[in-house]
Amino acid sequence: MAEHKLQVEAIERGTVIDHIPAGMGIRILKFFQLTQQQDAITVGLNLRSKHSSSKKDIIKVENTIFDVQQANQLALFAKDATINVIDDYDVVEKYQVTLPEAVIGVLTCPNSNCICHDEPVDSRFYVTEDTPDVTLKCHYCEKSFSQRLFVELK
Ligand SMILES: [Zn+2]
Repeated sequence: MAEHKLQVEAIERGTVIDHIPAGMGIRILKFFQLTQQQDAITVGLNLRSKHSSSKKDIIKVENTIFDVQQANQLALFAKDATINVIDDYDVVEKYQVTLPEAVIGVLTCPNSNCICHDEPVDSRFYVTEDTPDVTLKCHYCEKSFSQRLFVELK
């Protein structure tokens, strides 16, 4: 526990997203518009990971508990991320995000010719894992896009 506190300050209540690939932390903040809410956010970038030689990012959002659906959207950009729910400085719940099968209404199709831009429909993507990346296939234009494309568009 002491080791954790050395890396990023502990929070009293909220959500800690751990094991984000280094470089994705800032993109996730932007994508989920986390910085537009009132809650305090602590971000750790390029931290050393205990389990591997690669670096990681950590995001701590105070007073916000992610629901499983939100957490699984995170998996698109950080499929090995761990969600820690914190209450009274303790981890009360800890789980690994899982890739959703489909993402509806959250993303915008990168294909500017896609019919979803002209019709009043919810965007719809089917998620597949193409190691090491995650690919999203648009329901409407049936084109596939790397997950990285979506965070770069924002
Ligand atoms: Zn499309």
